[in-house]
Amino acid sequence: MDFEPSPRSQALHVPLQRFMDDLVLPSMADWHRYADAGVYPLDVIEPLKRRAQDLGLWNMFLPSLRDDQPGSRLDHLDYAPLAETMGRVPWSAEVFNCSAPDSGNIELLQMFASPAQRERWLDPLLRGEIRSCFAMSEPDVGSSDPTQLETRIERDGDGWLVNGRKWFITGAAHPACRVALVIGRSGGGAGGDDPHRRHSIVLVPMDTPGLRIERNIPVMDHQALEGHCEIVLRNVRVPGDHLLGEEGAGFAMAQARLGPGRVHHAMRSIGQCELALELMCERALERHAFSLRVGDFANVQDWIAHSRLEIDQARLLVLRAAWTMDRRGNAAARVDASAIKLITAQLQTRVMDRAMQVFGAMGLTPDTPLARLWSWGRALRFLDGPDEVHLRTVARAELARAKTRRGANARHLRRWIPVPP
Ligand SMILES: Cc1cc2nc3c(=O)[nH]c(=O)nc-3n(C[C@H](O)[C@H](O)[C@H](O)COP(=O)(O)OP(=O)(O)OC[C@H]3O[C@@H](n4cnc5c(N)ncnc54)[C@H](O)[C@@H]3O)c2cc1C
Repeated sequence: MDFEPSPRSQALHVPLQRFMDDLVLPSMADWHRYADAGVYPLDVIEPLKRRAQDLGLWNMFLPSLRDDQPGSRLDHLDYAPLAETMGRVPWSAEVFNCSAPDSGNIELLQMFASPAQRERWLDPLLRGEIRSCFAMSEPDVGSSDPTQLETRIERDGDGWLVNGRKWFITGAAHPACRVALVIGRSGGGAGGDDPHRRHSIVLVPMDTPGLRIERNIPVMDHQALEGHCEIVLRNVRVPGDHLLGEEGAGFAMAQARLGPGRVHHAMRSIGQCELALELMCERALERHAFSLRVGDFANVQDWIAHSRLEIDQARLLVLRAAWTMDRRGNAAARVDASAIKLITAQLQTRVMDRAMQVFGAMGLTPDTPLARLWSWGRALRFLDGPDEVHLRTVARAELARAKTRRGANARHLRRWIPVPP
């Protein structure tokens, strides 16, 4: 396996790094000024978007980007280091039109949208003119198991009638959010009672009568400006051609959306962990206690060393997942995609926790990015499925492999009997 980014990826990384240094970092103070006032910082983001698009630093995450679609086409392995660089400033991915949940929705539309749906939703998303959200989780059912979703998507004459309640819908409060991809249970389809084939996805314009954002739910006491929203859909009617893909194929489509998105999330996390490690080391070198530099204490050195090693291990696993997706398709990387989702979310809280400790009480304040990044790491342990679901995926794959080689290790076992004296 060769994880060396291609010359094309390296060539894009140079202007990306320059863009981050020269334009994104100097905009941080402005971004926070808007955000602290509760205003989505469009005034900061929109001019940066135009610059990024001009430089070809645009839609870099989508290997299936066609020649007539805007942006730079990279495969997953080539995109991974760029996602790491963007991750250091969490809001910056939007500047390059590479942010979740739009990236996942764009992938889904690229695969399954009809020509009319492409024109109405995919093209403006690719141009960065609108944003979108993905509405799956529901307050009334354990949404770790999407076969339980209760939102109804029923045929109504020549259209669809949608009824249900969704929550934690990221991006729904973004001022440019125009469409929700809503997954729910529909009566028809070829799946019959198969729990994996009775859900469908419909495209619901955010201004459809009956769709109401009830609240933007704070996560870890923080209210994100783009929103993690609770949404009610009451007798929401959309035309028949707003069904995405086939009726009953919603579950399979939602799964298809997840693999690459996990590489993106994981690499952004790794970028944030690298930043935390750098901050931790800088602080350890300059702060003194008990006549020693904080970095001279053995436990702090252990934290630094463990962080370095764990970040490097995690990165290698993510790159393997990306490499597998590129070479063998998303399905072949299914278990790796679960593994990287799990380990990078846990890594993020671990590394942030160590860095906060080195900073002393300051580490808990908004004066450093650490506390916010710790909270986000904690949220990542639910987002796209809780840790336990991913552990289960890894364990099941391991047990399935063991089943195929039962007895192969028999010779390693013996019944110890003492040699008679
Ligand atoms: C910041 C944030 C953003 C989000 N954005 C979105 C979004 O944009 N769209 C969207 O649809 N959803 C979104 N979610 C919701 C997220 O996908 C769900 O929270 C997640 O899938 C878990 O569902 P749940 O909360 O209903 O937990 P439940 O299903 O109720 O699970 C509760 C707990 O049960 C245990 N458990 C569940 N399954 C197993 C198992 N197999 N083995 C062992 N234990 C298990 C776990 O401990 C789990 O935490 C977001 C969540 C957060 C925190």
